[in-house]
Amino acid sequence: MSERDLLMIPGPIQFDPAVLRALSAPTLSHTSPEFIEIFGAALTDVRKVFLSDDGQPFVIGATGTFALELAIANLVEPGDSVLVVNTGVFSSRFAKIAGLQGAEVTELTAPVGDAPTLEAVEAALKQKQYKAVTITQVDTSTGVLADVKGIAALARKYGALSIVDGVCATAGEEFRQSVWGVDACVTASQKAIGVPPGLALAVFSKQAIAAFEARKSPVRSYYADFGEWLPIMRAYEDRKPAYFGTPPVNMIYGLRESLRQILAEGMEARFARQVKTAAAFRAAWRALGLKVVPARESITAHTLSAVLFPAGVDASLVVKVKAEGVILAGGLHPANRAAYFRVGHMGTCNAGDILTTIGAVERALLAAGYKFDVGAGLAAAQRPLVG
Ligand code: PMP
Repeated sequence: MSERDLLMIPGPIQFDPAVLRALSAPTLSHTSPEFIEIFGAALTDVRKVFLSDDGQPFVIGATGTFALELAIANLVEPGDSVLVVNTGVFSSRFAKIAGLQGAEVTELTAPVGDAPTLEAVEAALKQKQYKAVTITQVDTSTGVLADVKGIAALARKYGALSIVDGVCATAGEEFRQSVWGVDACVTASQKAIGVPPGLALAVFSKQAIAAFEARKSPVRSYYADFGEWLPIMRAYEDRKPAYFGTPPVNMIYGLRESLRQILAEGMEARFARQVKTAAAFRAAWRALGLKVVPARESITAHTLSAVLFPAGVDASLVVKVKAEGVILAGGLHPANRAAYFRVGHMGTCNAGDILTTIGAVERALLAAGYKFDVGAGLAAAQRPLVG
């Protein structure tokens, strides 16, 4: 990979230079007043990015998978029932983790590229009492966008906690934790949050914390236990020293800078920019005669595109695009992974990156012998980017 290559996979993304510079500042003591101030402010900003009024933020050195485990291990007890709304490979992780935590798991599935309907979710919730419903806001394996607002409302109606995987969504896709009544939203640093891999982020509602406090059995994980982490997160926000596991000090510098940038842009402006970015890519795929994995526009993610190879073109297209200086990802879902490629377009992704990517895909399609009107994708992408 050349340092001039453009990284357009669905995480890690291309990071802002100021975030990368922040990482390299001298490492402070994790209990120094200077670091406590940085971490405390970052926690408060996490709450703002999730549009939560009074939720409890967590930032822990770990990956997104741990963030899923953090939610399940603390909110679900052995014997509890968990409903997994499955839209792809990452939804299945929730099922696996909940099963390991001793839960009785029911998975609502749909064909690859589709999502279970709200009617199906409600029918399942009517059948038995679930402790929690898991939702993958964007399943990165399929590019399917779940109706978090609708499913979270149903979960609340039937007395279940809603747990959202926002790893490929938070700080990109519209998400309003308090207004939508979501109990847990978890994410990781390397996607729309805009910080290199290594941080798990989460915000839990008051109801979620109450459910943890009402547990009858101990949390079956040492590193994930709220009993250990809650006093730490509260202490940092109260600007007091505390220790459980050494926080990744330099990563928190990067997070502080990225959250500052996100909030300076503003959440509404950011959601709107994400929609505009997706509109440009969608217009380009259409103009090039390419179809996407998600079954309908209403369930298509804005943070990434999962695009089917046209007839006569195979997965070597991704290698050809790389030769043009843009790094894309292949398919991920075991059912059809050789049939599509994925383009991440969240966070710092700007108009230049969009056009560079579409231009590289066009040149690679040309090299693959695909017949299309050269420049049509680029021309189609321009219009949504104006204004
Ligand atoms: N959930 C989703 C939707 C993801 O896209 C990913 C990572 N691609 C994960 C969970 C797991 O995150 P991590 O790789 O940071 O463990």
